Amino acid sequence: MVPEQTQEPNTHSSPVILGPTEHTGLGIFASRAIAQDEVIGEITGTRNSVVNTTAEDVLGHDRWIGMGNNTWIDPQFPFSHINHSCNPNAGIRGMAHMVAMRPIPKGEEITFDYSTTEEDPRWCMRCNCHQSGCRGEIRSIHFLPRETFERYVPYIPNHFQDVYRHYYLLPSVQ
Ligand SMILES: [Zn+2]
Repeated sequence: MVPEQTQEPNTHSSPVILGPTEHTGLGIFASRAIAQDEVIGEITGTRNSVVNTTAEDVLGHDRWIGMGNNTWIDPQFPFSHINHSCNPNAGIRGMAHMVAMRPIPKGEEITFDYSTTEEDPRWCMRCNCHQSGCRGEIRSIHFLPRETFERYVPYIPNHFQDVYRHYYLLPSVQ
């Protein structure tokens, strides 16, 4: 597929469509070229405050996106269908805006790194992203290699940046 390179981005329409993926069933795709740092959309949905007591609880809601300590959002479309990648092209800025980390050509799947929004170290999923540099499993933000963390900032929600910096005794940016 050849992306259209000359079209001016239309900021008034959602740049996202649902489509089949090779390895993960369904995913969301860029319906037009998306510029770096462009807001792809706000993550909306039901907020859930839950204290997970068992490891089973931790794995119970794989579509939820972490928003803070014991707080998740059950996202509405399109972010209900965003897949994880260990080499993502999108991330979350602030608390709930999905933003392009790099230019995304029309037709490319939009992904983010689930580890950037989870802080329970018991959480562990097998990764199916098939990207070079795949970490093999998706775990909480503590398990992100330092180099990966640095590369993702500022596309990590503030709360989870704080969790990581606190855990590794890194200076806070605020
Ligand atoms: Zn992976």
